[in-house]
Amino acid sequence: MSNEELGLKVEEALSKLESGELSISKLDQFLGNPNLAALARRLFLERKYNVKLTSIASTVIDFVGVVGHNIENPIGAVQVPLGVVGPLRVQGDYAKGDFYVPIATTEGALVAGVNRGVKAITASGGARSKVIYDGMTRAPIIWTPSVSEAYSLAAWIKGNIDKLKEEVRSVTRHGELIDVQTYVVGNIIWPRFVFRTGDAMGMNIATIASDRICRHIDENYKGEHRCVSVSGNVCSDKKPSQINKLLGRGKYVVAEAIVKRDVLRDVMRTTPEDVDFINKSKNLLGNAVAGSPSFSGHVANIIAAIFIATGQDVAQVVESSMAFTWTEVRDEDLYISVTLPSLEVGTVGGGTWLPTQREALELLGVAGGGNPPGTNALKFAEIVAATALAGELNLLASQVTGELAKAHERLGRGRG
Ligand code: NAP
Repeated sequence: MSNEELGLKVEEALSKLESGELSISKLDQFLGNPNLAALARRLFLERKYNVKLTSIASTVIDFVGVVGHNIENPIGAVQVPLGVVGPLRVQGDYAKGDFYVPIATTEGALVAGVNRGVKAITASGGARSKVIYDGMTRAPIIWTPSVSEAYSLAAWIKGNIDKLKEEVRSVTRHGELIDVQTYVVGNIIWPRFVFRTGDAMGMNIATIASDRICRHIDENYKGEHRCVSVSGNVCSDKKPSQINKLLGRGKYVVAEAIVKRDVLRDVMRTTPEDVDFINKSKNLLGNAVAGSPSFSGHVANIIAAIFIATGQDVAQVVESSMAFTWTEVRDEDLYISVTLPSLEVGTVGGGTWLPTQREALELLGVAGGGNPPGTNALKFAEIVAATALAGELNLLASQVTGELAKAHERLGRGRG
């Protein structure tokens, strides 16, 4: 089609949208090209509301391939400023070396603050990071008529785990069923299936695999039962929960460091004793008083910023930022650790292949599938945890010295 013909087709689409003959979700089909459809949606909205969407229009994203995978009804993209912190020295099982970590945020002072924590940790020899558990979960909800039936179904699932593993292998190459934790309440049962999902965060893999398992149960378990839903919320996705905190979901990862007394003094103008006291009174006692499920200062800041930068599922910040920040005064220095029991990250799948997000992952040396599969996601998890550690250290130190408000006053006041 010539440009003139394309222009006429867009005009036709606009008048059909305005008359209600065509809906915004049918534009891709009508115009035969998702980029053109995005343009038509924008023009329609610009005319209807007398606004200009030129900034939203400005994007490197080619919606061919993105529609059908990451978005419906696109009109463009939002941009979030991207900074880096580093060099952050990490000694993990997979992440080894110095990293510049991408931080996407609009909170002034966040990058500067985390960077100060990074400086102190690197000057003290770096952070050690370790993933101590790796498993994405899905827990279907299955109705049975009685507790006896629920109990016998739970036993049947455990007894047939090898067959269920085989079923999972038929729907995914990288997804592997590794465990099942069954919960019975009255006559209802939730088998919480645990999967390794390679370098993918794994939610689609786990859902597709669990659906396959439910069908296998339907076809082969002779007792009365009904798979009510593939997701019964004992999983638990995008909600704060005790179960993820205790048993883990995604990567259960710990980052720790010994921060030297003189480094704390020179970089942060504080002492191990002061940081330790504020951690225990604020992160442990304060959060206990408030009833918070997370015992940290602002881990969500770091998790959200890295998730946005690298194409993670941002709604999973809810559970991925549940954390324990722990400190001890040890041999005159400060021991500090951050434990993230439910860090849900991937380097393939979801938004990780989008152009800017992929570059951010490349910066960390973790874009795409690892060799062997799974190692990129593990390395990424170790880096994320080490960055969260730097953020926690800085926040604690800045509150000891009263610098938190000053930094935000200097770097973070809003414009209009
Ligand atoms: P995905 O993109 O759905 O699946 C990963 C794909 O990459 C699979 O097709 C997998 O093939 C392939 N793959 C290639 N190399 C791989 C490697 N090295 N490691 C792992 N997989 C590899 O990603 P996902 O992580 O499972 O799901 C993420 C998406 O789920 C996000 O968009 C998120 O927003 C969304 N989400 C879904 C739900 C839900 O209930 N379905 C809930 C929350 C979020 P094989 O499968 O053949 O291995």
